[in-house]
Amino acid sequence: MKGRKLLMIPGPIEFEPDVMQAMAIPTPSHVDPDFIETFGHALEMMREVWQSPSGQPFIIAGTGTLAMDMAGANLIESGDNALVISTGYFGERYAELLKRYGANVDILRAPLGEIVPLEQVESQLKKKEYKLMTFTHVDTSTAVLNDAKSLGALGRKYDVLTILDGVCSVAGEEIMQEEWGLDVVLTASQKAIGVPPGLALLVASPKAMQAFESRKSPVGNYYCDWTNWLPIMKAYESRTPSYFGTPAVNLIMALEVSLEKILKEGLEKRFNRHRLAGKAFRSAISALGLKMIPVNEAVSANTLSAPYYPEVVAGAELLKHISGEGVIVAGGLLPDIKGSYFRVGHMGAVNRNDLLATIGAIEAGLKNCNYSFEAGTGLKAILG
Ligand SMILES: *Cc1c(COP(=O)(O)O)cnc(C)c1O
Repeated sequence: MKGRKLLMIPGPIEFEPDVMQAMAIPTPSHVDPDFIETFGHALEMMREVWQSPSGQPFIIAGTGTLAMDMAGANLIESGDNALVISTGYFGERYAELLKRYGANVDILRAPLGEIVPLEQVESQLKKKEYKLMTFTHVDTSTAVLNDAKSLGALGRKYDVLTILDGVCSVAGEEIMQEEWGLDVVLTASQKAIGVPPGLALLVASPKAMQAFESRKSPVGNYYCDWTNWLPIMKAYESRTPSYFGTPAVNLIMALEVSLEKILKEGLEKRFNRHRLAGKAFRSAISALGLKMIPVNEAVSANTLSAPYYPEVVAGAELLKHISGEGVIVAGGLLPDIKGSYFRVGHMGAVNRNDLLATIGAIEAGLKNCNYSFEAGTGLKAILG
């Protein structure tokens, strides 16, 4: 495609042509029987992708931040204690959000590039009673991968609701919501789910729904209130028309196609494909002599990477050259070190050709920035 650049940022990502095609038909009524079928089917498939057979799925027009907001608004009542385990930018966002609903928030912050040790989380849970805790599966500002399974187990042990911000991980990193005891797993359409921006997606466990139902005060956010949305999700799933706010009809048609593709590929295979892509990309970056924010392989995300610029290279200059080579990558996001690193998304439909094109563009950019390295070493690492 002439003039097209390869979009390798951590969302929006490159979308599959048949997902885009699903959006390009005349918009039907939101109560058209065919659309009701599509919506219902998408809800059912979410349970499978989330591996949460008894969970309650929600599909709402909005972004990932709305999904975070929805979990906070419905589960927090003023005066509740909440624990935020922060591995970067999005942990800090969650702490701010929960405070708006009157939560008393404690934050456990990981050192840059690391996760908070489980013993530290456990000793905090022993010290104080919390209603819920949140953690970011893959923090998109640091490319750090959290241990969602162990954190879910701690939540269960101490009877604390767990919210996983999976915006950069659902359908890319392994998640077994029910088995791991995660109460809310949330994401947005434009990341590893592979649908253009505009949908907030989450699945809530029976325990989370119980906590919502036993609230003493009304939800302090009208649009987010599950009281309004739960009957709508139930109606679509039982294939009956219903209305609260107009659903994002074309996006939901695209979501159905993307979820079908994810399940057809198979979750195990898909997670493994992401593991291999992440590993190959990191090995290429290391071969070029660049350091990355995550301190070791165990805490490195497979959906994106966050390499530091070499000291001799001006970041903005390098990004311009990479874009000139036809590949778009993202700059830094974490305020304190924003100018010292960049981010490359490798999730969803990403394949080896995309990784080769990206490393090729990075090599060309580094060469233009007078960084000295042996040309082709990154490409060789991708090729294995
Ligand atoms: C992108 C992202 C968000 C925010 O999603 P928006 O759709 O931009 O609102 C939240 N958390 C994580 C981990 C993300 O990667």
